Parts: sequence; structure tokens; C-alpha cells
Amino acid sequence: MSNDPACKRCENGSGDIIHAIRVCAYAREVLTLGGLHESLLDDNYMDCIDWLGSSMRERNST
Ligand SMILES: [Zn+2]
Repeated sequence: MSNDPACKRCENGSGDIIHAIRVCAYAREVLTLGGLHESLLDDNYMDCIDWLGSSMRERNST
């Protein structure tokens, strides 16, 4: 495993989990196409567990 912090998909960002699942342009495209509510993409979540919890609640409420 490499210590290179850059994202391998977009070659930007920190390469951390929040980037990989939500911030990365490629991830955002997939999430948007999948119908994820915009607030889940725009709110400033610092913890991926918080974001996943909000995503699950949003999905269960629709
Ligand atoms: Zn990326």
C-alpha cells in the first residue's frame, strides 16, 4: 500500500475516506446519478460515520 496521499481516481484531494466516498468528483457523480439528496453532498461532514448515518436516514425516509 502506498503512502501517497493523493486520490488515485481524480489525482486531487487527500485520498482519505471522506474524499473517496463523497468529495471526489467521481464519487459525487455516482452519488448524484444514484439520487442522493443534495444536502448530503453539500453539508460539511468531517466524519464518514456521521455522513453514512445521515445517508441511511435520508434513504429510509423516502
Ligand atoms: Zn478523488
